[in-house]
Amino acid sequence: MVAENILRIKQEIGQNVDLVVVSKYRTIEEIKQVYDAGMLHLAENRVQALLERKEALPDNIKWHLIGHLQTNKVKYIAPFIHLIQSVDSFKLLEEINKQGLKNNRVINCLLQVYIATEDSKFGLSEEELYELINHPQISEFKNINITGLMGMASNTDNIAQVEKEFKQLRHYFDHIQTLNLFPHFQTVSMGMSGDYLLAIQCGSNMIRVGSKVFE
Ligand SMILES: *Cc1c(COP(=O)(O)O)cnc(C)c1O
Repeated sequence: MVAENILRIKQEIGQNVDLVVVSKYRTIEEIKQVYDAGMLHLAENRVQALLERKEALPDNIKWHLIGHLQTNKVKYIAPFIHLIQSVDSFKLLEEINKQGLKNNRVINCLLQVYIATEDSKFGLSEEELYELINHPQISEFKNINITGLMGMASNTDNIAQVEKEFKQLRHYFDHIQTLNLFPHFQTVSMGMSGDYLLAIQCGSNMIRVGSKVFE
């Protein structure tokens, strides 16, 4: 089933949108099916789970972190992480840069923006986002590569609301691109199992899908 689900989703989204499979809460056996179907981009929301899974699965998997990251845990993932999608503070960026330097790596990061109406979600407000990208020290961080934005829409049946939030994130992305602050700024990560088609219509080019892959 997993292989068929992946094939179907890939056909739906086309070549210009990247699919990242969210493997959180799944067993190693289930995740192996994803790997065997040829998917190498996997995402976890917790550092501990990510480390356990990395240990148990093949080395060529490209791991993404999509959950809140505490600065004291950056060191555990810095040696191998492919993309940290959940950067939400200057302090965190500073630590990622420091650990990147220690590991002789440039670590790819997305800035997580808070676009939902619920207050339980992490992410930068509009004001914090612009404050962060304009921080004078950011250009000195040689061991991070800010490649785009990530956001989660409200968990609601109100499609108009979700659409508004996705369009807002895309708007931030387009605006930041015009500022030419980051040479590799190209990713808009938005859309999950319930809303990825809408997200793509609103300008997403990376979706993070869990339940729809494993159902
Ligand atoms: C769990 C999670 C997803 C995937 O959710 P599904 O609805 O299972 O597709 C995507 N993004 C983030 C940040 C998540 O925590």
